[in-house]
Amino acid sequence: MSQNAERTLVLVKPDGLQRGLAGTIMSRLENRGLKLVASKLIHMDESLAEAHYMAHKDKPFFPGLVKFITSSPVLAMAWEGKDSVRVVRNTMGATDPTKADPGTIRGDMAIDIGLNLVHASDSTDTAHQEIQLFFSKTEILEYTRDIDRWIIES
Ligand code: UDP
Ligand code: MG
Repeated sequence: MSQNAERTLVLVKPDGLQRGLAGTIMSRLENRGLKLVASKLIHMDESLAEAHYMAHKDKPFFPGLVKFITSSPVLAMAWEGKDSVRVVRNTMGATDPTKADPGTIRGDMAIDIGLNLVHASDSTDTAHQEIQLFFSKTEILEYTRDIDRWIIES
C-alpha cells in the first residue's frame, strides 16, 4: 500500500443494485481519486449480515436491516487512498438522506434512511474488520496506477 493510504469497505446495498446505480456510485469514488483494490457481487446470508452489523444488534431497526441487506445482492468493494475512511464517509453523506448534503451520494440519489444506497466503514478499525469479513487476502490486489502522480502529491 502506498504511503499514507488506508483502505475502507464500501457496499452498494440491494437498493443501489436494483436501481442500477452501482456504476454511478463507483464513478463517484473513482472520480474522487480512490483506487479499487477488491470487489465482489455477493448475496449476503444472515450470518454475514449479523456479523457485519453486529454493532447495531440491540437497535430496533436491526431485524429489518438484516432482512433488507440479505434481500438481494450487494456489491462489496475495498477502496484505497489517502484518508479513505473519512473521504468515503464524506462522499457518501449522512445516514439519513434527508439530512445528507447535496453533492453526496445519499444527498443526490436517496431519500429514506432504510434505502440509503451505500455502506462505508466508519473508522480505520472497523474498516480492517469489515474488509476481512468480505475478502480473503488474495482477493485484495496491490497495483500501481500511472495517473496517481496527477492525483496525489508526492
Ligand atoms: N438504519 C435504519 N434506521 C435507523 C438507523 C439506521 O434503517 O434509524 C440503517 C441504515 O440503512 C444505515 C444502517 O442502518 O445505513 C447502519 O446504520 P449506521 O448508523 O451505521 O449508518 P451508516 O454508517 O450506514 O451511515
Ligand atoms: Mg455504520
